[in-house]
Amino acid sequence: MPEIDLDFGGVGQVPEGWFRLTCDKAVYKQNKNKDGWIINLQMHFTDMPEGNLPGTEMPYESFENNMVYDNPSLKPNSRWKLKRILEAFTGENFEEDGMKVSYTCSVDCDEFEDTGKCQHEWVVPMLQGETVVALIKGEDYEGRTLARVEKYVYDDGAIEFGPNMTE
Ligand SMILES: [Zn+2]
Repeated sequence: MPEIDLDFGGVGQVPEGWFRLTCDKAVYKQNKNKDGWIINLQMHFTDMPEGNLPGTEMPYESFENNMVYDNPSLKPNSRWKLKRILEAFTGENFEEDGMKVSYTCSVDCDEFEDTGKCQHEWVVPMLQGETVVALIKGEDYEGRTLARVEKYVYDDGAIEFGPNMTE
C-alpha cells in the first residue's frame, strides 16, 4: 500500500544560530501596560546561509525574509539591553546616561513638526533599513515557536555568520 509521507520535520521551527537581520521598522510606542515605552523592532532574516536545519530537510534559505520581533524597553533597568541593540545597529557607542534616540512621525505630519506630538505611528529612523548580526534562539510561546534574539552584534559585513558561529 502506498504511504503518505508526513515528514513535517522543521515545521514550526526557527533557525538557531547567528544570522543577519534587517530592521524594516522601529516603532517607538508605549508598552502594553502603558507604564513605559518600548521600541518595537520589526526585522527579517537576510542572506540566509546554505544548508539545512540540523536533523531536517528544511533549508535555512526557506526562512529568508521571515519576521523576527523584539521589544526593547526604555525603562532604566532595561537600558543596558537597549544600549547593546543601538550599538549593534549603528556601530556607535551609546552612554547609558544621556542616551539619545530621535524619533519622528512615520508620515511626517505637520502637527508632529509643530508640536512634537501626533496620533500617527512614531518611528526611529536610525534603526530602519539597518542590518545586524543576531544570535537567534527558538522560544515556545502559546504553542508556537518564536524566534528570539539573544544577542546583537555589529554587522561589519565580514562576519562568517551561520548556525556554527561561536558565541
Ligand atoms: Zn504624525
